[in-house]
Amino acid sequence: MRISGIDCHVLLDPAFDAGATSSAQDDLVVEIHTDAGITGIGETDVNPWIARACIEAPGTHTMGLGLAEMLLGSDPSEIREIWDRLYEGSAMNGRRGALICALGALDMALHDLRGKTLDTPCHGVLGTACRDTITPYASLQPDVSSFDLYLQTMVEWAVTAKELGFSAAKLEITPSGPYAHKGLRASGERMGEAVAAVRNSVGDDFVLMVDVQYAFPDLDACLRAIRGWDRYNLSFIEAPLPADDLDGYARLSSKQGIPVAAGEWLTTRHEFVDLMDRGRVAVVQPDIGRVGGLTEALRVCELARERGVQVVPHIWKTGISIAAAAHLAALTPHCPFIEFLPARLCGSALRKRLVKEELRMENGSIPLPRKPGLGVELNRGALAEFKAAAERLVRSPSSRHPVAPARPESIQMDDGLTPWR
Ligand SMILES: [Mg+2]
Repeated sequence: MRISGIDCHVLLDPAFDAGATSSAQDDLVVEIHTDAGITGIGETDVNPWIARACIEAPGTHTMGLGLAEMLLGSDPSEIREIWDRLYEGSAMNGRRGALICALGALDMALHDLRGKTLDTPCHGVLGTACRDTITPYASLQPDVSSFDLYLQTMVEWAVTAKELGFSAAKLEITPSGPYAHKGLRASGERMGEAVAAVRNSVGDDFVLMVDVQYAFPDLDACLRAIRGWDRYNLSFIEAPLPADDLDGYARLSSKQGIPVAAGEWLTTRHEFVDLMDRGRVAVVQPDIGRVGGLTEALRVCELARERGVQVVPHIWKTGISIAAAAHLAALTPHCPFIEFLPARLCGSALRKRLVKEELRMENGSIPLPRKPGLGVELNRGALAEFKAAAERLVRSPSSRHPVAPARPESIQMDDGLTPWR
Protein backbone atom coordinates (compact mmCIF):
# COMPACT_ATOMS: atom_id res chain seq x y z
CA MET A 1 0.00 0.00 0.00
CA ARG A 2 1.25 3.50 -0.84
CA ILE A 3 0.21 7.00 0.18
CA SER A 4 -1.48 8.49 -2.86
CA GLY A 5 -2.72 11.89 -1.64
CA ILE A 6 -2.90 14.29 1.29
CA ASP A 7 -5.71 16.79 1.84
CA CYS A 8 -5.21 19.68 4.25
CA HIS A 9 -8.48 21.27 5.36
CA VAL A 10 -8.18 24.68 7.01
CA LEU A 11 -11.39 25.15 8.98
CA LEU A 12 -13.01 28.06 10.77
CA ASP A 13 -16.10 28.41 12.92
CA PRO A 14 -18.25 30.88 10.88
CA ALA A 15 -19.26 32.61 14.14
CA PHE A 16 -15.67 32.99 15.34
CA ASP A 17 -14.83 35.94 17.52
CA ALA A 18 -11.64 37.79 16.66
CA GLY A 19 -11.49 39.08 20.24
CA ALA A 20 -11.38 35.62 21.79
CA THR A 21 -8.22 33.86 22.96
CA SER A 22 -9.48 30.44 21.96
CA SER A 23 -8.07 27.75 19.72
CA ALA A 24 -11.46 26.05 19.43
CA GLN A 25 -12.41 28.41 16.59
CA ASP A 26 -10.21 27.05 13.82
CA ASP A 27 -8.61 23.75 12.93
CA LEU A 28 -6.33 21.94 10.52
CA VAL A 29 -7.71 18.54 9.58
CA VAL A 30 -5.65 16.30 7.33
CA GLU A 31 -6.70 13.27 5.35
CA ILE A 32 -4.10 10.79 4.13
CA HIS A 33 -5.33 8.72 1.20
CA THR A 34 -3.87 5.44 -0.08
CA ASP A 35 -3.96 3.52 -3.34
CA ALA A 36 -5.91 0.85 -1.42
CA GLY A 37 -8.77 3.32 -0.96
CA ILE A 38 -8.29 3.61 2.82
CA THR A 39 -8.07 7.10 4.34
CA GLY A 40 -6.83 8.24 7.76
CA ILE A 41 -7.75 11.52 9.50
CA GLY A 42 -5.88 13.71 11.98
CA GLU A 43 -5.91 17.27 13.35
CA THR A 44 -3.66 19.68 15.16
CA ASP A 45 -4.03 22.71 17.41
CA VAL A 46 -2.01 25.55 15.91
CA ASN A 47 -2.61 28.33 13.38
CA PRO A 48 -4.02 26.09 10.60
CA TRP A 49 -2.77 28.24 7.70
CA ILE A 50 0.80 28.02 9.01
CA ALA A 51 0.51 24.26 9.59
CA ARG A 52 -0.86 23.72 6.09
CA ALA A 53 2.14 25.56 4.65
CA CYS A 54 4.50 23.27 6.60
CA ILE A 55 2.84 20.32 4.86
CA GLU A 56 2.28 21.67 1.36
CA ALA A 57 5.33 23.89 0.79
CA PRO A 58 8.00 22.50 -1.53
CA GLY A 59 11.62 22.50 -0.42
CA THR A 60 14.96 22.72 -2.23
CA HIS A 61 17.19 21.61 0.65
CA THR A 62 17.26 17.95 1.69
CA MET A 63 16.73 18.96 5.31
CA GLY A 64 14.25 21.74 4.56
CA LEU A 65 11.54 19.80 2.77
CA GLY A 66 7.77 20.08 2.95
CA LEU A 67 6.12 17.21 4.82
CA ALA A 68 3.81 16.14 1.98
CA GLU A 69 6.59 15.73 -0.58
CA MET A 70 8.39 13.37 1.82
CA LEU A 71 5.25 11.41 2.59
CA LEU A 72 3.70 10.89 -0.83
CA GLY A 73 4.46 7.45 -2.25
CA SER A 74 5.54 6.03 1.14
CA ASP A 75 4.38 2.76 2.65
CA PRO A 76 2.14 4.08 5.50
CA SER A 77 2.67 1.11 7.82
CA GLU A 78 6.08 2.05 9.25
CA ILE A 79 4.86 4.99 11.28
CA ARG A 80 7.83 5.48 13.63
CA GLU A 81 10.23 5.30 10.71
CA ILE A 82 8.13 7.85 8.83
CA TRP A 83 8.11 10.18 11.87
CA ASP A 84 11.88 10.10 12.17
CA ARG A 85 12.30 10.61 8.43
CA LEU A 86 9.95 13.62 8.34
CA TYR A 87 11.63 15.12 11.41
CA GLU A 88 15.05 14.82 9.83
CA GLY A 89 13.97 15.97 6.39
CA SER A 90 12.43 19.17 7.83
CA ALA A 91 14.98 19.75 10.61
CA MET A 92 16.36 23.00 9.24
CA ASN A 93 12.93 24.68 9.53
CA GLY A 94 11.27 22.42 12.04
CA ARG A 95 12.37 20.37 15.08
CA ARG A 96 9.93 22.37 17.24
CA GLY A 97 6.89 24.63 16.86
CA ALA A 98 4.35 24.73 14.03
CA LEU A 99 6.08 22.21 11.82
CA ILE A 100 5.94 19.56 14.55
CA CYS A 101 2.25 20.39 15.06
CA ALA A 102 1.71 19.76 11.35
CA LEU A 103 3.68 16.52 11.59
CA GLY A 104 1.43 15.64 14.55
CA ALA A 105 -1.73 15.88 12.43
CA LEU A 106 -0.15 13.63 9.78
CA ASP A 107 1.06 11.12 12.38
CA MET A 108 -2.43 10.98 13.92
CA ALA A 109 -3.86 10.27 10.45
CA LEU A 110 -1.26 7.53 9.86
CA HIS A 111 -2.31 5.79 13.08
CA ASP A 112 -5.98 6.06 12.07
CA LEU A 113 -5.08 4.64 8.66
CA ARG A 114 -3.06 1.78 10.17
CA GLY A 115 -5.91 0.84 12.51
CA LYS A 116 -8.44 0.89 9.68
CA THR A 117 -6.12 -1.22 7.52
CA LEU A 118 -5.80 -3.85 10.27
CA ASP A 119 -9.48 -3.50 11.29
CA THR A 120 -8.26 -2.79 14.85
CA PRO A 121 -8.59 0.21 17.20
CA CYS A 122 -5.39 2.30 17.45
CA HIS A 123 -4.75 1.18 21.02
CA GLY A 124 -4.89 -2.47 19.88
CA VAL A 125 -2.35 -1.82 17.13
CA LEU A 126 0.00 -0.02 19.53
CA GLY A 127 -0.11 -2.37 22.52
CA THR A 128 -2.39 -3.80 25.17
CA ALA A 129 -4.98 -1.63 26.88
CA CYS A 130 -4.41 -1.18 30.61
CA ARG A 131 -7.98 -0.08 31.36
CA ASP A 132 -11.57 -0.67 30.24
CA THR A 133 -12.68 2.93 30.47
CA ILE A 134 -11.12 6.37 30.09
CA THR A 135 -12.03 9.15 32.52
CA PRO A 136 -12.62 12.57 30.95
CA TYR A 137 -12.59 15.77 32.95
CA ALA A 138 -14.82 18.64 31.86
CA SER A 139 -12.90 21.75 30.81
CA LEU A 140 -14.95 24.82 31.64
CA GLN A 141 -14.26 28.27 30.23
CA PRO A 142 -17.27 30.62 30.31
CA ASP A 143 -17.19 33.08 27.42
CA VAL A 144 -18.12 36.28 29.24
CA SER A 145 -16.71 39.74 29.89
CA SER A 146 -17.52 40.47 33.55
CA PHE A 147 -16.01 38.56 36.42
CA ASP A 148 -19.27 38.40 38.38
CA LEU A 149 -20.99 36.74 35.44
CA TYR A 150 -17.94 34.52 34.96
CA LEU A 151 -18.09 33.32 38.55
CA GLN A 152 -21.81 32.67 38.39
CA THR A 153 -21.52 30.82 35.06
CA MET A 154 -18.56 28.76 36.25
CA VAL A 155 -20.50 27.57 39.30
CA GLU A 156 -23.52 26.69 37.13
CA TRP A 157 -21.36 24.83 34.60
CA ALA A 158 -19.45 22.88 37.24
CA VAL A 159 -22.74 21.76 38.77
CA THR A 160 -24.02 20.84 35.28
CA ALA A 161 -20.83 18.90 34.56
CA LYS A 162 -21.38 16.89 37.72
CA GLU A 163 -25.01 16.27 36.74
CA LEU A 164 -23.84 15.12 33.29
CA GLY A 165 -21.83 12.40 35.04
CA PHE A 166 -18.34 13.91 35.08
CA SER A 167 -16.28 13.04 38.15
CA ALA A 168 -13.83 15.89 37.54
CA ALA A 169 -13.70 19.38 36.08
CA LYS A 170 -11.08 21.99 35.36
CA LEU A 171 -11.83 25.66 35.88
CA GLU A 172 -10.20 27.97 33.36
CA ILE A 173 -9.75 31.04 35.53
CA THR A 174 -8.10 33.66 33.36
CA PRO A 175 -8.86 37.24 34.36
CA SER A 176 -5.21 38.23 34.21
CA GLY A 177 -2.21 37.42 32.03
CA PRO A 178 -2.15 36.86 28.26
CA TYR A 179 -5.35 34.80 28.21
CA ALA A 180 -7.40 37.55 29.84
CA HIS A 181 -9.63 38.56 26.97
CA LYS A 182 -12.82 40.35 26.12
CA GLY A 183 -12.49 42.72 29.05
CA LEU A 184 -12.43 40.05 31.75
CA ARG A 185 -10.20 41.42 34.52
CA ALA A 186 -9.88 40.48 38.20
CA SER A 187 -7.33 40.12 40.97
CA GLY A 188 -5.78 36.95 42.33
CA GLU A 189 -8.07 37.28 45.33
CA ARG A 190 -11.15 37.12 43.13
CA MET A 191 -9.69 34.12 41.29
CA GLY A 192 -9.54 32.36 44.66
CA GLU A 193 -13.16 33.39 45.25
CA ALA A 194 -14.16 31.52 42.08
CA VAL A 195 -12.34 28.37 43.16
CA ALA A 196 -14.01 28.53 46.59
CA ALA A 197 -17.48 29.09 45.10
CA VAL A 198 -17.16 26.09 42.80
CA ARG A 199 -15.78 23.82 45.52
CA ASN A 200 -18.68 24.79 47.81
CA SER A 201 -21.19 24.06 45.04
CA VAL A 202 -19.90 20.69 43.83
CA GLY A 203 -18.92 19.31 47.24
CA ASP A 204 -15.86 17.35 48.23
CA ASP A 205 -16.56 14.19 46.20
CA PHE A 206 -15.60 15.81 42.89
CA VAL A 207 -12.13 16.29 41.44
CA LEU A 208 -11.21 19.90 40.67
CA MET A 209 -8.28 21.31 38.76
CA VAL A 210 -7.54 24.95 37.95
CA ASP A 211 -5.96 26.33 34.78
CA VAL A 212 -4.80 29.94 35.11
CA GLN A 213 -3.22 30.01 31.63
CA TYR A 214 0.05 31.82 32.33
CA ALA A 215 -1.71 34.37 34.58
CA PHE A 216 1.21 35.33 36.80
CA PRO A 217 4.31 37.12 35.50
CA ASP A 218 6.65 35.55 38.07
CA LEU A 219 6.94 33.21 41.02
CA ASP A 220 6.31 35.81 43.73
CA ALA A 221 3.12 37.08 42.09
CA CYS A 222 1.94 33.49 41.71
CA LEU A 223 2.67 32.54 45.33
CA ARG A 224 0.83 35.64 46.56
CA ALA A 225 -2.23 34.95 44.41
CA ILE A 226 -2.64 31.25 45.17
CA ARG A 227 -1.94 31.46 48.91
CA GLY A 228 -4.63 29.42 50.65
CA TRP A 229 -5.82 27.60 47.51
CA ASP A 230 -4.51 24.32 48.92
CA ARG A 231 -7.62 24.19 51.13
CA TYR A 232 -9.74 23.50 48.01
CA ASN A 233 -8.11 20.12 47.38
CA LEU A 234 -7.03 20.82 43.78
CA SER A 235 -5.58 17.97 41.75
CA PHE A 236 -3.33 20.44 39.99
CA ILE A 237 -2.79 24.05 39.00
CA GLU A 238 -2.02 24.41 35.29
CA ALA A 239 0.26 26.89 33.55
CA PRO A 240 0.68 29.35 36.43
CA LEU A 241 3.88 30.95 35.04
CA PRO A 242 5.18 31.96 31.60
CA ALA A 243 5.86 28.80 29.60
CA ASP A 244 9.61 29.37 29.37
CA ASP A 245 10.16 30.06 33.08
CA LEU A 246 11.20 26.50 33.88
CA ASP A 247 13.24 27.54 36.91
CA GLY A 248 10.16 29.35 38.24
CA TYR A 249 8.12 26.16 37.75
CA ALA A 250 10.68 24.16 39.72
CA ARG A 251 10.66 26.66 42.59
CA LEU A 252 6.87 26.81 42.60
CA SER A 253 6.66 23.03 42.96
CA SER A 254 9.02 23.13 45.93
CA LYS A 255 7.41 26.12 47.70
CA GLN A 256 3.74 25.13 47.88
CA GLY A 257 1.67 21.97 47.98
CA ILE A 258 -0.60 22.03 44.90
CA PRO A 259 0.78 19.79 42.12
CA VAL A 260 1.87 21.85 39.11
CA ALA A 261 0.89 20.89 35.53
CA ALA A 262 2.15 22.25 32.21
CA GLY A 263 3.08 21.32 28.67
CA GLU A 264 0.04 22.01 26.46
CA TRP A 265 2.06 24.01 23.91
CA LEU A 266 5.17 21.85 23.83
CA THR A 267 6.39 20.06 20.74
CA THR A 268 8.48 16.88 20.82
CA ARG A 269 9.71 14.75 23.72
CA HIS A 270 12.78 16.98 23.95
CA GLU A 271 10.76 19.91 25.31
CA PHE A 272 9.02 17.58 27.76
CA VAL A 273 12.34 16.30 29.10
CA ASP A 274 13.25 19.93 29.89
CA LEU A 275 9.85 20.53 31.50
CA MET A 276 10.19 17.46 33.72
CA ASP A 277 13.89 17.57 34.56
CA ARG A 278 14.35 21.31 34.91
CA GLY A 279 10.75 22.45 35.52
CA ARG A 280 10.03 19.63 38.01
CA VAL A 281 6.29 19.54 37.24
CA ALA A 282 4.10 16.75 38.65
CA VAL A 283 1.81 16.49 35.61
CA VAL A 284 2.64 16.84 31.90
CA GLN A 285 -0.06 17.74 29.40
CA PRO A 286 0.96 16.85 25.85
CA ASP A 287 -1.55 17.86 23.20
CA ILE A 288 -1.38 14.92 20.82
CA GLY A 289 -1.56 16.92 17.61
CA ARG A 290 0.90 19.56 18.79
CA VAL A 291 3.50 17.31 20.37
CA GLY A 292 3.98 15.44 17.10
CA GLY A 293 1.13 12.92 17.02
CA LEU A 294 0.49 9.63 18.81
CA THR A 295 4.00 8.40 18.05
CA GLU A 296 5.66 11.27 19.90
CA ALA A 297 3.00 11.46 22.64
CA LEU A 298 3.68 7.82 23.51
CA ARG A 299 7.39 8.59 23.72
CA VAL A 300 6.54 11.40 26.17
CA CYS A 301 4.42 8.96 28.20
CA GLU A 302 7.36 6.60 28.51
CA LEU A 303 9.69 9.41 29.64
CA ALA A 304 7.07 10.52 32.18
CA ARG A 305 6.68 6.96 33.49
CA GLU A 306 10.43 6.71 34.07
CA ARG A 307 10.25 9.90 36.17
CA GLY A 308 7.05 9.16 38.13
CA VAL A 309 5.22 12.03 36.40
CA GLN A 310 1.50 11.84 35.50
CA VAL A 311 0.23 12.44 31.97
CA VAL A 312 -3.07 14.30 31.43
CA PRO A 313 -3.37 15.17 27.72
CA HIS A 314 -4.49 18.64 26.63
CA ILE A 315 -7.34 18.83 24.12
CA TRP A 316 -9.10 21.94 22.90
CA LYS A 317 -10.18 20.80 19.45
CA THR A 318 -12.73 18.26 18.26
CA GLY A 319 -13.76 14.65 18.65
CA ILE A 320 -10.72 13.66 16.56
CA SER A 321 -8.27 14.74 19.26
CA ILE A 322 -10.50 13.36 22.00
CA ALA A 323 -10.35 9.97 20.27
CA ALA A 324 -6.56 10.15 19.90
CA ALA A 325 -6.22 10.97 23.60
CA ALA A 326 -8.56 8.12 24.55
CA HIS A 327 -6.33 5.64 22.70
CA LEU A 328 -3.27 7.11 24.43
CA ALA A 329 -4.92 6.86 27.85
CA ALA A 330 -5.94 3.28 27.13
CA LEU A 331 -2.24 2.42 26.85
CA THR A 332 -0.94 4.62 29.69
CA PRO A 333 -1.47 3.57 33.34
CA HIS A 334 -0.17 6.92 34.63
CA CYS A 335 -2.80 8.87 32.65
CA PRO A 336 -5.71 9.26 35.09
CA PHE A 337 -7.74 11.72 33.00
CA ILE A 338 -8.05 13.22 29.54
CA GLU A 339 -9.24 16.76 28.94
CA PHE A 340 -12.74 16.95 27.47
CA LEU A 341 -14.59 19.99 26.20
CA PRO A 342 -18.24 19.06 26.76
CA ALA A 343 -20.08 19.96 23.55
CA ARG A 344 -22.99 21.26 25.63
CA LEU A 345 -20.74 23.56 27.65
CA CYS A 346 -18.73 25.26 24.93
CA GLY A 347 -19.46 27.67 22.10
CA SER A 348 -17.37 26.03 19.38
CA ALA A 349 -19.31 24.85 16.33
CA LEU A 350 -16.24 22.81 15.32
CA ARG A 351 -16.34 20.94 18.62
CA LYS A 352 -20.07 20.38 18.29
CA ARG A 353 -20.34 19.42 14.63
CA LEU A 354 -17.09 18.41 12.88
CA VAL A 355 -17.18 14.77 13.89
CA LYS A 356 -20.13 12.44 13.76
CA GLU A 357 -20.40 9.46 16.06
CA GLU A 358 -17.66 10.65 18.39
CA LEU A 359 -16.66 8.58 21.41
CA ARG A 360 -19.51 8.75 23.92
CA MET A 361 -19.33 9.23 27.64
CA GLU A 362 -21.36 6.71 29.65
CA ASN A 363 -21.76 7.16 33.42
CA GLY A 364 -18.85 9.55 33.59
CA SER A 365 -16.37 7.55 31.54
CA ILE A 366 -15.59 6.73 27.93
CA PRO A 367 -15.69 3.01 27.15
CA LEU A 368 -12.54 1.66 25.52
CA PRO A 369 -12.82 2.51 21.78
CA ARG A 370 -13.74 -0.57 19.73
CA LYS A 371 -13.94 0.73 16.16
CA PRO A 372 -10.96 0.46 13.78
CA GLY A 373 -8.44 3.29 13.83
CA LEU A 374 -9.34 6.35 15.88
CA GLY A 375 -12.99 5.33 15.59
CA VAL A 376 -14.47 8.67 14.50
CA GLU A 377 -15.75 9.99 11.21
CA LEU A 378 -15.91 13.46 9.68
CA ASN A 379 -19.23 15.19 9.14
CA ARG A 380 -18.69 16.17 5.48
CA GLY A 381 -21.39 18.85 5.44
CA ALA A 382 -19.86 20.61 8.46
CA LEU A 383 -16.36 20.25 7.00
CA ALA A 384 -17.43 22.03 3.78
CA GLU A 385 -19.12 24.81 5.74
CA PHE A 386 -16.08 25.41 8.01
CA LYS A 387 -13.75 25.30 5.02
CA ALA A 388 -15.80 27.94 3.22
CA ALA A 389 -15.64 30.16 6.33
CA ALA A 390 -11.82 29.88 6.38
CA GLU A 391 -11.65 30.78 2.68
CA ARG A 392 -13.87 33.82 3.27
CA LEU A 393 -11.48 35.03 5.97
CA VAL A 394 -8.53 34.94 3.60
CA ARG A 395 -10.45 36.60 0.76
CA SER A 396 -11.84 39.41 2.86
CA PRO A 397 -10.17 40.99 5.88
CA SER A 398 -13.54 42.38 6.96
CA SER A 399 -14.72 38.79 7.54
CA ARG A 400 -12.51 38.80 10.60
CA HIS A 401 -15.61 40.18 12.27
CA PRO A 402 -18.05 37.44 13.21
CA VAL A 403 -20.41 36.46 10.43
CA ALA A 404 -23.17 35.51 12.85
CA PRO A 405 -24.43 38.03 15.43
CA ALA A 406 -22.02 38.22 18.37
CA ARG A 407 -23.11 36.64 21.60
CA PRO A 408 -24.31 39.41 23.93
CA GLU A 409 -21.35 39.05 26.32
CA SER A 410 -18.81 39.42 23.54
CA ILE A 411 -19.94 42.88 22.46
CA GLN A 412 -18.36 44.76 25.36
CA MET A 413 -14.73 44.51 24.37
CA ASP A 414 -12.91 47.48 25.82
CA ASP A 415 -9.44 46.31 26.72
CA GLY A 416 -7.39 47.10 23.63
CA LEU A 417 -6.66 43.40 23.15
CA THR A 418 -8.80 43.07 20.05
CA PRO A 419 -6.45 43.92 17.19
CA TRP A 420 -9.02 43.63 14.44
CA ARG A 421 -11.36 46.28 15.78
MG1 LIG B 1 -4.68 24.93 29.37
